[in-house]
Amino acid sequence: MTINGGISFWYATDRTAPATPPRAPLTGDATADVVIVGGGYTGLWTAYYLKSSAPSLRVTVLEQKFCGYGASGRNGGWLYNGIAGRDRYAALHGREAAQRLQRAMNDTVTEVVDIAAKEGIDADIHRGGVLEIARNPAQLTRLKAFHAAETAFGETDRELYDATAARARIGVADAVGASWSPHGARIHPLKLLKGLAAAAERLGVVIHESTPVTEIAPRRAVTPYGTVRAPYVLRCTEGFTASLKGQKRSWLPMNSSMIVTAPLPPETWERLGWSGREVLGDMAHAYMYAQRTADDRIAIGGRGVPYRFGSRTDNDGRTQPATIEALTALLTSFFPALTGTEITHAWSGVLGVPRDWCASVTLDPATGLGWAGGYVGSGVATANLAARTLRDLVQGDSTDLTGLPWVGHRVRRWEPEPFRWLGVQALYTAYRAADRHEAATHSPATTPLARLADRISGRAH
Ligand SMILES: Cc1cc2nc3c(=O)[nH]c(=O)nc-3n(C[C@H](O)[C@H](O)[C@H](O)COP(=O)(O)OP(=O)(O)OC[C@H]3O[C@@H](n4cnc5c(N)ncnc54)[C@H](O)[C@@H]3O)c2cc1C
Repeated sequence: MTINGGISFWYATDRTAPATPPRAPLTGDATADVVIVGGGYTGLWTAYYLKSSAPSLRVTVLEQKFCGYGASGRNGGWLYNGIAGRDRYAALHGREAAQRLQRAMNDTVTEVVDIAAKEGIDADIHRGGVLEIARNPAQLTRLKAFHAAETAFGETDRELYDATAARARIGVADAVGASWSPHGARIHPLKLLKGLAAAAERLGVVIHESTPVTEIAPRRAVTPYGTVRAPYVLRCTEGFTASLKGQKRSWLPMNSSMIVTAPLPPETWERLGWSGREVLGDMAHAYMYAQRTADDRIAIGGRGVPYRFGSRTDNDGRTQPATIEALTALLTSFFPALTGTEITHAWSGVLGVPRDWCASVTLDPATGLGWAGGYVGSGVATANLAARTLRDLVQGDSTDLTGLPWVGHRVRRWEPEPFRWLGVQALYTAYRAADRHEAATHSPATTPLARLADRISGRAH
């Protein structure tokens, strides 16, 4: 039987002892030097770095439910160097600026691994890199172009594999090639999140859970239990941002869904390989992502119902049966030997998608309002870079990080409903049709429909 929802598999099976008791809500008006809205990676890393570099700062985190309730407690555990919008930033600010951004992301993977070690956070981290595979000729054409582009961006340590070499790494039945990058690690998302929250608290950060912020304004965050006043208010709510007053049409809450198998026996792993525990992705338009967990399951994700009308978000991660079926079919198309394998958990979460698909980090010194996000599904590492950047911005320091091209980027808002909903439905219908077409025709060219969808959606630059 599949447990559907329950926040995530990571949450439902969390056995970290002692179990963290819920943190107390806010109990009246308060003051701080920095108030952070949202207890995910962005908020907690920001709190952690601020307090580490300026121990006298009073830093308060307000979280509507509990730390890790959002995507940070639900994601696929790809800690990797991808950042949404790099190519657009190259077009806007020049290639050298985008290369600096890419190098900062490469370093960020190491930074997270190093801080986890320093803080004694056991997050099942395995630095096996990222293996992206192609499964048909059109995907192979894109894979080669992707490999060449990443290499040109300085990833000279990337490796390109033919079908045999790709399958030797991970036994994906129909792999025709792969590109491997060392800049990635498999993590247990919730263990990282919980360890980070604990590390921030050890430094003296105050975290209030069960405290929804109903309004963010210059120098104050308003909750039903009181207002926290601070010179700096940082919005770290990513996929939930649209539910805040005045933010309905900023980052679109995109849904992503996952399933996980029961632990697989050693005989199965002998057949599948995957001994390097790379995180695994593909070159489909509606792409998938997967990891081999520390307890030898496969967790695999992709888009289910991509977007809910009116920017609604779900509550407990409950996932439509049709999405569970589609992900199960995806799993067995990758690994036919897994047909009939038990799927123990299914869940979903939301990530933030800006209108131009570019992640950004901003602080307005005049109002003290700041934010970071719009990571479009690549937020595990990016949130850490955003946090160190917010730290420098709050401290008024001009650093290598504050000079990166994603700092201060502004983006136009999404269309009002029903155009927003219709647009996203049409986009993902087009991507799925393009994937089916490419798999059926074996043409090496990307389907024009997908190119058109990329252009109309603002995803291609
Ligand atoms: C299913 C799934 C798989 C993913 N897989 C990957 C992956 O493998 N690799 C990768 O790089 N990225 C992945 N992502 C994206 C990544 O998880 C996110 O980009 C990242 O976790 C965002 O962190 P965050 O702290 O900005 O936001 P979140 O983790 O969403 O945290 C925001 C927090 O703000 C709180 N909040 C919201 N509104 C309020 C309010 N009004 N008052 C108080 N608190 C509020 C929420 O409860 C939440 O805890 C995935 C996302 C999903 C959903």
